Amino acid sequence: MSAGDLHRFSFEGAPVRGALVRLTTSWREALRRRAVVGAFPAPVRLLLGEMAAAGMLMRSGIKFDGALVLQLKGDGPVGLAVAEITSGLSFRATAQVVDEVAADATLAGLVNVGGGGLCAITLDPRDRPAGRLPYQGVVPLSDDGGRAMTCLADALEYYMLQSEQLATRFVLAANDEVAAGLMLQRMPAGEGAAHDPLTPHEDFERITALGGSLTSTELLTLDADSILHRLFWQESVMRYAPRAVDFRCSCSRERVRGMLLALGREEIEDIVAEQTQVEVGCDFCGEQYRFDAVDVGEMFAPPSAQSAGTDTLQ
Ligand SMILES: [Zn+2]
Repeated sequence: MSAGDLHRFSFEGAPVRGALVRLTTSWREALRRRAVVGAFPAPVRLLLGEMAAAGMLMRSGIKFDGALVLQLKGDGPVGLAVAEITSGLSFRATAQVVDEVAADATLAGLVNVGGGGLCAITLDPRDRPAGRLPYQGVVPLSDDGGRAMTCLADALEYYMLQSEQLATRFVLAANDEVAAGLMLQRMPAGEGAAHDPLTPHEDFERITALGGSLTSTELLTLDADSILHRLFWQESVMRYAPRAVDFRCSCSRERVRGMLLALGREEIEDIVAEQTQVEVGCDFCGEQYRFDAVDVGEMFAPPSAQSAGTDTLQ
């Protein structure tokens, strides 16, 4: 059984493309690993699952070598929620929960309590020169009229329109077993469509109406072939080869070591004196990195043949 898969498709004769993703064992692995250092409250798990699925869908449509980072910067009980997707379609996700989360909290109740929440998408190339900032688009989590977005799908549709000038529809769902999503998008000008992607188009309206009929239960329980057949059996759908997706974290002992070096000898030796070791846990995957007095002595030993890294756990 695969850890999850992503299916891309387009519609013959219509300026619409789509993608469908289902994270199955990879999503359960992400939750299991995170639970080692403390599971997130259910509404936060659901949000992160939808973010991971949506990030996959968006990442699959962009040709570049690097990571897509979807962030929600919140002013509620969740200060930050992050999903990162690599070129190889591996994902990781985490959140900073700063206050108690209500069991029925919606997107607004998690990250947009005071109307100050933001949605940011960063494209971070693998070969980005040091010091050059990656491309980032940011939109508020409230619409032009100041109304808070009620779900992640609405927030991302607004983002795609405002920031990328792309009309897009998302259907997203997650539970503790599966995180899944469907994306339908007007093709940008120059990709088989010579017209303005923002003007209404009957093919797009029809196809998104069909896509919008997909229920959360169907999305979470049916396989991709069944979903696409059920929604689009009257359309001429062109399928591309499916791609495997996976959970993977890019943290490493070497990166943590670089972070400790950057903190400085005095601070690290104080911690070792107090707690006999320095312990750093990865927020994404729960991995625990431990450095005892010998490790720390070695780390700061002169003459240093090692270069002091400035990498953080991110
Ligand atoms: Zn990690």
